[in-house]
Amino acid sequence: MLRLDKLHPVISGNKWFKLKYNLEAARGRRIITFGGAWSNHILATAAACKIAGLACTGIIRGERPAVFSATLLKAQEYGMELVFVSRETYKNMLSNGGIDSNAYIIPEGGNNPEGIRGAAEILSLADTSSAHTDIICATGTGTTLAGLISSAPAHQHITGISVLKGPLTLPIAPGNWSLQHDFHEGGYAKAMPRLYDFMNDFFRQTAIPLDRVYTGKMAFAVQQLIQRQHFKPGSRLLLIHTGGLQGNDSIPPGVLCF
Ligand SMILES: *Cc1c(COP(=O)(O)O)cnc(C)c1O
Repeated sequence: MLRLDKLHPVISGNKWFKLKYNLEAARGRRIITFGGAWSNHILATAAACKIAGLACTGIIRGERPAVFSATLLKAQEYGMELVFVSRETYKNMLSNGGIDSNAYIIPEGGNNPEGIRGAAEILSLADTSSAHTDIICATGTGTTLAGLISSAPAHQHITGISVLKGPLTLPIAPGNWSLQHDFHEGGYAKAMPRLYDFMNDFFRQTAIPLDRVYTGKMAFAVQQLIQRQHFKPGSRLLLIHTGGLQGNDSIPPGVLCF
């Protein structure tokens, strides 16, 4: 497992890679981006902008809550301006983009060419001596998957485990990659008790914490795919831990053993 969760305490995992070239492209302008109340991307952007000395605004999906999530509290602490909009306005803003023409807009989840370019650098941290046959990551927008596909050698197969219910079509040419759609455990950010059981078992066996939205589902999927003999005998799997552990703060205490 490539532990991107260990890169930085807050700008966790793949989000750091997706932000890197976006912060460069902003060239000092205010950054505006989008996300939900528990968004890893919102928190990572807030922390990265603080470090880079950039002003930033987070457009948050849904009405202003009476009690802020741990994610929003931290984002605010880092100096991010939070603007709450209804789900409908949020959708319109996502498709129309512009709010402030002087600002630099990063789409939801960091999903743009700069994000893909950054994600392509993830594999530079992998131990290439292990001769992996397969690389597996959790997939939301597909930005990370696209970056991995663009940088992995042709003999490796990249599998994205979609955390979204329903089909996800990605603008990536067919090749040495595929998507698995059956492991969303009820839909985005939904979790059944068996997912928490798996995450607890996984932690007891490996001492590796997983998050409930992405990496928990990815590792659970890999276990099931192995049981179904999906991977050829002799395969060497590299799982990407894309971070996101801060989102576990949304789980009531006592459910997870870590
Ligand atoms: C955002 C996120 C993902 C999804 O990445 P995409 O590039 O949007 O597919 C996966 N894992 C974690 C922990 C994330 O925070």
